[in-house]
Amino acid sequence: MNLSEIQALDEKYYMNTFGKRTPVAFERGEGIHLWATDGKKYTDFFAGIAVNVLGHSHPDIVKAVQDQAGKMLHCSNLYYIESQAELAQIICENSCADKVFFANSGAEANEGAIKLARIYFKKKGQSEKTDFICLNKSFHGRTLTTATATGQPKYNKPFTPLTPGFTHVNINDFEALEAAVTDKTCAIMLEPVQGESGVYPLDPDYAKKVRQLCDEKGILLIFDEVQTGIGRTGCLFGYERLGVEPDIFTLAKALGGGVPIGAVCAKDAIATGFEPGDHGSTFGGNPLACSAGLAVMRRVLIDNIVEKVGEVSTYMMEKLEALKKSTGKISEIRNAGHMYGIVLASETAGVVRGKLFEKGWLVGSVGTNVLRVLPPLIIENKDVDDFMEVLNETLIELV
Ligand SMILES: *Cc1c(COP(=O)(O)O)cnc(C)c1O
Repeated sequence: MNLSEIQALDEKYYMNTFGKRTPVAFERGEGIHLWATDGKKYTDFFAGIAVNVLGHSHPDIVKAVQDQAGKMLHCSNLYYIESQAELAQIICENSCADKVFFANSGAEANEGAIKLARIYFKKKGQSEKTDFICLNKSFHGRTLTTATATGQPKYNKPFTPLTPGFTHVNINDFEALEAAVTDKTCAIMLEPVQGESGVYPLDPDYAKKVRQLCDEKGILLIFDEVQTGIGRTGCLFGYERLGVEPDIFTLAKALGGGVPIGAVCAKDAIATGFEPGDHGSTFGGNPLACSAGLAVMRRVLIDNIVEKVGEVSTYMMEKLEALKKSTGKISEIRNAGHMYGIVLASETAGVVRGKLFEKGWLVGSVGTNVLRVLPPLIIENKDVDDFMEVLNETLIELV
């Protein structure tokens, strides 16, 4: 099918949740490139919203998925699953977690983390501890409860009544957070770097104070690492950047390298809150998704992708700062590793994203003035040079 045939089918049969999409349909990808149905080649600096960490069609992931599909796609969690146990092991051996539960998406993993926090206190006989403090501008997912946790009214207001027990305060404002704590507070849930709302990193000093507050008051600290996990910030997990360990953290986007999988990861003492029958999933932790996850984790560790992200992102920030100076069209650059929020001096984010797209480059945008860039973690300095050239050209073209 060509693009207009696909568009016609989409308009007729697909629920209109995504509005007018970027006018392209991709057919195939390799490394950091994608090819559209009309044969045009694109360079992907958005990575499926932080999903394709190893780029497209990485041979390890392709082989893992092909081998597993040829053997067995699915079996239920009534039985033991080798790749599930091994993926849980590799996550625990490389993080502060002792136990893992697999879900199918980021929202579902966060939903699991919220349920785990509540049941943990119930089993301790502290059933009054039911409430969560989250941040304004956060994003935690699209289920009713994770949309409630999300500190952006546009995602939850249309769906009232919401799940009870959630309040929101501003990022990096410790006094506001402290003031929001009550006897009912069960957990504080934070993204190490707020991604969806435009790349706002947590301040490490703030994170340390929050950790201390949680310890003093017997509150759990949950990190939503759905976007920051698996090397994105230049650490394997975003909490390492902050120098604090959460009690529970969640993963999804990058973990399967493109195959849907989510994870709830917790310290032993907390994980025991879930006993047989308390939580579950039909598809969560299935052999196919876990084989993909294992391939991603092994490659990320073998190739020391985390160090590479550190080096290449430092190089990219130098280039971006230079571009800010030379063009005067950028007012601020927020980043953590390969998460970039490039704030433009004028309300032209949509225009710039569109022009980059015409030139064969994929990036995202937030609101009217932030370019959101999330390249695959395998990019090299020369890919950064190519991006800077096209971004420079595009910014200069702006009137
Ligand atoms: C993308 C994202 C989610 C939601 O993940 P889904 O797989 O779309 O459900 C949750 N939290 C954060 C921080 C995210 O970036």
